[in-house]
Amino acid sequence: MKQVLILFPDTFLWLKDNTGLLYNAKSFKKDGFNYTTALRSLCSALLFVDNLYTIEIEPENLTAEEVKFVDLVIRKKYGFITEHPAKAYSLPPVLSIQNDIKKMELNLSRSVNENILKYLTTLTIYTGGRFPGPLYYRQTYYPFHSESRLENSEILNFLDHIHSRYIKKINIVFSRIEAINFLISLSGKLKAAAPKVVYYCHVRELSDNITSILTQLDITTILICEYEPASLTALRDFLEYHRGLHPFEFNFLIRSQTEYNYWEHLVSQYEIKLYKYIPIYDNNYAFFNRFVFLNKEDINSVALSKRIVFAHQSVNINFFGELILLPDGLVYSNVNKPPIGCMQDSPYDLIKNELHKNYAWRVIRDQEPCSECVYQWLCPSPGQYELILGKNNLCTLK
Ligand code: SF4
Repeated sequence: MKQVLILFPDTFLWLKDNTGLLYNAKSFKKDGFNYTTALRSLCSALLFVDNLYTIEIEPENLTAEEVKFVDLVIRKKYGFITEHPAKAYSLPPVLSIQNDIKKMELNLSRSVNENILKYLTTLTIYTGGRFPGPLYYRQTYYPFHSESRLENSEILNFLDHIHSRYIKKINIVFSRIEAINFLISLSGKLKAAAPKVVYYCHVRELSDNITSILTQLDITTILICEYEPASLTALRDFLEYHRGLHPFEFNFLIRSQTEYNYWEHLVSQYEIKLYKYIPIYDNNYAFFNRFVFLNKEDINSVALSKRIVFAHQSVNINFFGELILLPDGLVYSNVNKPPIGCMQDSPYDLIKNELHKNYAWRVIRDQEPCSECVYQWLCPSPGQYELILGKNNLCTLK
């Protein structure tokens, strides 16, 4: 007797080579299975677009492997069986960005311009100034060393020029903070330009004056904390002075287990609540391999909504929507790639350049070995570590 097998709209079925994966984005359950020749016609039929996750089956004619697969689908609630003819279908949604990009390629019209402006939501500005040291700005928000720095007026002109109501966040990454007035006059204008403003300041740059100004500004300040003597002394002094009342947030950079242990101890000793650990690659492959790369257990604990899985398939969640201004006046979508323009360019041109060149915003896991892996869309979007390490995957699986 004919029946109908339907996958739930929250179920993803991914097939690669000899491996298959079922994932339910509501229950977050996932089950791998051997994608053998015997399952090919059943699984391909389920994935055929016109079938809408729905296929007819005749249970008495299924092979043993197909029975096992259908049983897995029903038992683990990836789908259900109903009588023929079916009254229900599933339809996975698609993100509209793909349409906008196609439209843009066909016709760079005014309305498309308006549409793409909404993609730019975050601006990050590296003020520059002397800060000799490692090039960690390629991995995280970290001071950028340059002989010259952007003047207040240059930053404000850039913001005026690129202004749009879609910009929700402005990050300012300081190198050397020489003028206190610079901080005060800048902050008022920044707050008018975006709902959220974040100052990134290296802990070594803190002085009593700067701390007291920063605490009064009603702006989120994140202290970049590095495990080296001068920074540790500055940080300890700061924490002692502000014991139990931390006006700032903290980004603790980690290059080894020793550093991690040190920060953990500090966090508990000073009861720090708002902090992040940021792994930094600095010829410490063994540390990355052990503590940063995803392993099977990490991937098994992934719990992503359908929306995020689809986002992974279309855009880079780490980079999408952000443009970065470096002190030389060039604008980047990714500081590890060539610039997409300069601070005098219109926001439309900058966004269009990025959408055409795709240095960051739509960089997804579509390269080997990820393109051949069933976890392709469950793994996080590629980040800077892949570029720094020169590999496409950040896991111990391949
Ligand atoms: S990083 Fe790539 S290869 Fe590794 S598990 Fe994720 S998708 Fe697969």
